[in-house]
Amino acid sequence: VIRAFLFDIGNVLLRFDFQRAIERLREKCDPAAGEVLELIEPIKVEYESGRIDRPMFQQQVREVLKFTGSDPEFVSAWEEIFTEIEPMTAIVRGLRGRYPLYLLSNTSDLHVEYIFRTYPIFECFDGGVYSYAVRAFKPERGIYEAAIAKFGLKPSETLFIDDLEANVAAARELGFRTWQYDWRNHAAFLNELEQLGIAAEPTATNQPV
Ligand SMILES: [Mg+2]
Repeated sequence: VIRAFLFDIGNVLLRFDFQRAIERLREKCDPAAGEVLELIEPIKVEYESGRIDRPMFQQQVREVLKFTGSDPEFVSAWEEIFTEIEPMTAIVRGLRGRYPLYLLSNTSDLHVEYIFRTYPIFECFDGGVYSYAVRAFKPERGIYEAAIAKFGLKPSETLFIDDLEANVAAARELGFRTWQYDWRNHAAFLNELEQLGIAAEPTATNQPV
């Protein structure tokens, strides 16, 4: 029996495209700086793992790209990379109140603050564990254990939904029920919910608990 849900964010609730940020940053970078995404990637991982903070992240990116824009220009380019996956957020709205809903994401304080003020869907969640805050990055065991401890989860009764095989496999090893979500095949997820006996919408006989 599923009694709680644990959702990944990227490519489950929101699609994201870092290329969109890159295009905007490139306008104010030294063209000799090289391949922007490759230069940023290791710094991004340090930041999302909580090993460097936001000012350090911005400073390191600025140095490596020779970025000449302002901090607000950088931040808005970095933030505006998301698109809501509406079939999935509709499911979340339908589950709200009937099950506890939690988030488990590799992300940064910058993105968490942005998505919470931009997408009302995040009001449906009862809490979240984020890599930057717990200094562990999926598929590292520590981030799942942080979620189990913080929310008192029973993995065998919790459905973890993520788009990446490695993340799903790590959760399965810890005893979670899992689903590897592909936004291009939302119907497969609906079918899985049905198999699990979970109504996607509240009904007269399936009221909030
Ligand atoms: Mg993801």
